[in-house]
Amino acid sequence: MFRPLNLIMGIFSKDLGIDLGTANTLVYVRDRGVVLSEPSVVATDTRTSRVLAVGKAAKNMVGRTPTNIVAARPLLGGVIADFETVEIMLRYFIGRVHEESPFLPRPRIIVGIPSGVTEVEKRAVHEASIQAGAREAYLIEEPMAAAIGAGQPIQNASGNMIVDIGGGTTEVAVISLGGVVVSNSIRIAGDALDQCLVDYIRTEHQMLIGERTAEACKLAIGSAFDDIEDSTTLVRGRDLNTGLPRALELSTGQVREAMSGTIIELVDIVKLALESTPPELLADIMEDGIYLAGGGALLKGLDKRIETDTDIPVKVAKHPLEAVVRGTGHCLQNLKVYREVFLTEDGYPNN
Ligand code: ADP
Ligand code: MG
Repeated sequence: MFRPLNLIMGIFSKDLGIDLGTANTLVYVRDRGVVLSEPSVVATDTRTSRVLAVGKAAKNMVGRTPTNIVAARPLLGGVIADFETVEIMLRYFIGRVHEESPFLPRPRIIVGIPSGVTEVEKRAVHEASIQAGAREAYLIEEPMAAAIGAGQPIQNASGNMIVDIGGGTTEVAVISLGGVVVSNSIRIAGDALDQCLVDYIRTEHQMLIGERTAEACKLAIGSAFDDIEDSTTLVRGRDLNTGLPRALELSTGQVREAMSGTIIELVDIVKLALESTPPELLADIMEDGIYLAGGGALLKGLDKRIETDTDIPVKVAKHPLEAVVRGTGHCLQNLKVYREVFLTEDGYPNN
């Protein structure tokens, strides 16, 4: 049926795609691209329950807060632990990019959510999106969005494997004909690699470093394959014997050793997904390769490591940190084509 009002709204509404990640939230505006990327952190004053900061400002507070302020990551384990905080975050990020105007229609919104979330959580995110100002809200599983964002032909009758390594969770999925055939998710990803470094430096060098220092060290010289060029970096923390500040020089080899156990676990989850993939799809994957997305895909040598251990070619998505949000953006531009990849009836508009 021809609905002129819908057509006009479609042209003028500033539709949004949102990646609610465990580490970072990104927003895509239709016809403009990725306009915002900030940490998924909310700082709250526990005495008054007042939200003090969201995003970058809140992340800066992590590890530096007085006792009455908590800087929390509401999606940490890939599940929505604290729904109210998620709603506050959604509202804040939507508000940042969407100026309300009585002359403009409210936006349609596509939200990427972790694949493990329950029906109740899906409904909650849908509700929060409407509350936060959406005219229509659709939900999409993050691995599906990541695969679309990485440019995989997910609607073909062939197997597409995507491995999305985020901050809190790693999700592996095999997608064919627009549906998820195999999916696997673990709570081991970028944060776990940082934690490995904290633990290693504590036990091997009797020194305590903060999470953010560990992440900076990983970004500077972290690697997963041993043909990476050697370099060093300086980390600062507290000597556990003297209690005084201390600086320590770490080499590429030491950092790799510290992270090796977790890297093995990451490779294992990929192998596990391959083991439960139907043989026809496996043949497609061997031909097209395994795609990596998420910030963890940027770890040097991880692609080579997975390639060596599985004997399947590995490709890193062009913009791994933006794969999910670009996927939601691609769906926004082609809503009709992608209708069937959205999650539940709850995600559909009423008309
Ligand atoms: P999420 O989807 O869970 O929000 P992201 O895809 O945004 O997570 O990825 C965040 C993770 O990627 C963090 O753990 C961060 O340390 C890691 N990361 C980002 N850039 C790099 C890099 N160059 N090398 C290694 N890890 C990286
Ligand atoms: Mg993600």
